[in-house]
Amino acid sequence: MKIDGKSKLCGLIGKPVEHTMSPLIHNTLSEILGKNMVYVPFLVEEDLKSAVEGAYALNIRGLNITVPYKEKVVDLLKEIDPLAGQIGAVNTLCKTEGGYVGYNTDMTGLYRAFCSEGIKIQGEKVIILGAGGAARSVACLCSHYKAAQIFILNRNVEKAKLVAEEINALQEEPLVFPMALEEFDQLPKEKMLCIQATSVGLAPCEERVVIENQSFYERIHTGYDLIYRPANTRFMQLVKAQGGRAFHGLKMLLYQGIEAYEIWNECRVEESLCNTIYEKMKGEMGIEE
Ligand code: NAP
Repeated sequence: MKIDGKSKLCGLIGKPVEHTMSPLIHNTLSEILGKNMVYVPFLVEEDLKSAVEGAYALNIRGLNITVPYKEKVVDLLKEIDPLAGQIGAVNTLCKTEGGYVGYNTDMTGLYRAFCSEGIKIQGEKVIILGAGGAARSVACLCSHYKAAQIFILNRNVEKAKLVAEEINALQEEPLVFPMALEEFDQLPKEKMLCIQATSVGLAPCEERVVIENQSFYERIHTGYDLIYRPANTRFMQLVKAQGGRAFHGLKMLLYQGIEAYEIWNECRVEESLCNTIYEKMKGEMGIEE
């Protein structure tokens, strides 16, 4: 990689940042596309405001924002993309005159991962497991792309109710239905898309899943687990055991990076190149499939 006076700098702000795969995504893209851009992670212990202002002063073109700053960074932006605004969380900043504009490529990336796998949201009845930050964002995405109905099942049902209230307030008719995990037998008795957005099943607790009962999985035609470590979660195994298709979340991670790269470089990354990067990510993670 050649670095000179014209090199564009992008990076990641978060805590921790040690295990990130983003440098692999962005630096490989720049190398293959011959773009003079360098991507580095920055550990920000606590002073996010100084970090963002400093990045702007240093002419840093773009930043990814990760845990724990995705919500906090919203107050430091010049402008926010409408979907990111509804979600209330931003993971990508792009420098413009007068300040950074914020986007949520976690969700546009998830949508692109769905498109690449042939998973449709529009008109679908969708089950979301979880009501944390990721689940809330997924619910916004599903409402944005016109799901027919959204069922949010969470251990803490009050949190599911809050997400439902927030999204339903923007609808003419109720769209989101909060439920406790144990109430799954009250779901419509038909095949649906299910997105697993809890942290249950994440390595090293790979044998765990939020709902064990196989009759729940009979209702799923497609299961998408946001978790990608391990690459074959217990949730995915249970979906497949009942005849459904199942995916892990590594493509979501890939496309959130691709979408950020496209914003910073005002370009479109070809699908064949996305696949090349994806193979590299799988290699890094030791995934064979
Ligand atoms: P979060 O805000 O901490 O939410 C965690 C969720 O998991 C909550 O719904 C919580 O339920 C539930 N949960 C935790 N422990 C549980 C247990 N023992 N039993 C039942 N439910 C439990 O986390 P998040 O940011 O939303 O992230 C959720 C997952 O998405 C993580 O695994 C993360 O790695 C993954 N993710 C993946 C990507 C990607 O690029 N692929 C991007 C973002 C996130 P309560 O509300 O009841 O506590």
